[in-house]
Amino acid sequence: MDDLTKPPAREVSGSEMVDVNFQRALAYIDSIQNGLAGVLRFPKRVISVSFPIEMDDCSIRVFQGCRVVHNRTLGPGKGGIRYHPTVDLDEVSALAALMTWKCALIEVPFGGAKGGVICDPKALSQSELRHITRRFISELGDNIGPYTDIPSPDLYTDEQTMSWVYDTYDVMHPGNNNRAVVTGKPLLLGGSPGRREATARGCRDVTEYFIGKGLVPGLSELKGARVVVQGFGNVGSVAAQLFQEAGAKIIALSDSQGGIFDEDGIDLRAAIAYKKEHGTLVGLPQTTTITNEALLECECDILIPAALSEQICAHNAKNIKARLVVEAANGPVTPAADRILADNNIWVLPDILANAGGVTVSYFEWLQNLENHQWELDEVNARLHKRMRKATEATVTRWQELQQRKAEMAGESEDSKEPYPLDLRTAALTIAVERLARVTAQRGLWP
Ligand code: NAD
Repeated sequence: MDDLTKPPAREVSGSEMVDVNFQRALAYIDSIQNGLAGVLRFPKRVISVSFPIEMDDCSIRVFQGCRVVHNRTLGPGKGGIRYHPTVDLDEVSALAALMTWKCALIEVPFGGAKGGVICDPKALSQSELRHITRRFISELGDNIGPYTDIPSPDLYTDEQTMSWVYDTYDVMHPGNNNRAVVTGKPLLLGGSPGRREATARGCRDVTEYFIGKGLVPGLSELKGARVVVQGFGNVGSVAAQLFQEAGAKIIALSDSQGGIFDEDGIDLRAAIAYKKEHGTLVGLPQTTTITNEALLECECDILIPAALSEQICAHNAKNIKARLVVEAANGPVTPAADRILADNNIWVLPDILANAGGVTVSYFEWLQNLENHQWELDEVNARLHKRMRKATEATVTRWQELQQRKAEMAGESEDSKEPYPLDLRTAALTIAVERLARVTAQRGLWP
């Protein structure tokens, strides 16, 4: 059993990271009304709760949780619930802001939200997790709802957790169609075909489309690309399978207990079966065991961090040897690391674009639930693909426009001398922030 209780030393807090990136984008937006940036910067609503749970051994423990709605300008709050010992209000607020930018970029009518409970899910039984979920949701009360704030799965929460969320809310609101209160549910309970794979599928769509543009030297297609994936949960394990399906070679994988490496390509079927049996990938026959740190520094074409935030920081960014980093996780690359990666000509597909497939299909699930109807998988995937492609195109076009504008500006300092690069993250954020600013102005302030 791995020790999840020790938080890593922090280079930057979650909210500092989001704030720095927000300021980076603002520097390229001319049209934002004076003072409006403040409206977009701070969370709209923050709720902290605590509740007692009777554990399996009859002892009583008090758990703490929170839910943050960052912005509701485009629609109800939307975002995951995570169960992890390192959950804190700062991180959850940062993740809620990221959801706001993500929804605006991918053009789904939601605001950003996030929630979590401080706990070590690996040390809890199913019935303890059920009790925690029910109490957490009942404490949130009417602060969640199909038209107010809609949770979904995140770190260490899954379809089962979402079923309990739905059931608890449904018991509290009898007589309504409550399915749209939560997404990422099992299929039989109104889940969408393709939701489980959506984040990873969106990641692959964005990567394929981006490298097809020929901007990454020596990498124009997934066929033959050497790929490393950190994290083997919902997002990481499916990403590994989908990238392999497209012809890539998965040379390294990891989970919280460590990594495995095979230059000739890992047999994913064997990896999945081994993980199921042993609870970890470490020890899979015919692979070399490596640390999670070494995994990030493997020589490869594409590195996909799909676990925690702040994995590529100032101290290890110089050792990254990938040509392209695809942020399947939220916030895996710090602003200081962005600078180092850009200086080393390593591209980063930012989280608000690369992992937006999850919220996109969550939106599709919400639509299906409101109609009490289920779409075919092909329809879901086709609609997802279209949105991911459009957002990638918009981001690359914006990046090119900003680069050109910058080059034309007389006396402009060289990019490499500035603290942060003008990269795809900045470009994607300018689109999202501009959209939000425009709609906020159209709606007008209250009163
Ligand atoms: P998950 O709980 O299913 O999987 C997490 C994985 O990370 C597990 O394999 C775990 O072993 C591994 N892990 C934990 N600590 C680690 C460490 N220190 N080093 C290496 N691996 C470690 O979670 P998930 O749903 O796959 O989410 C992964 C990331 O993707 C999170 O950052 C989440 O916010 C983000 N994300 C998820 C979704 C979604 O739809 N699930 C959508 C967008 C973004």
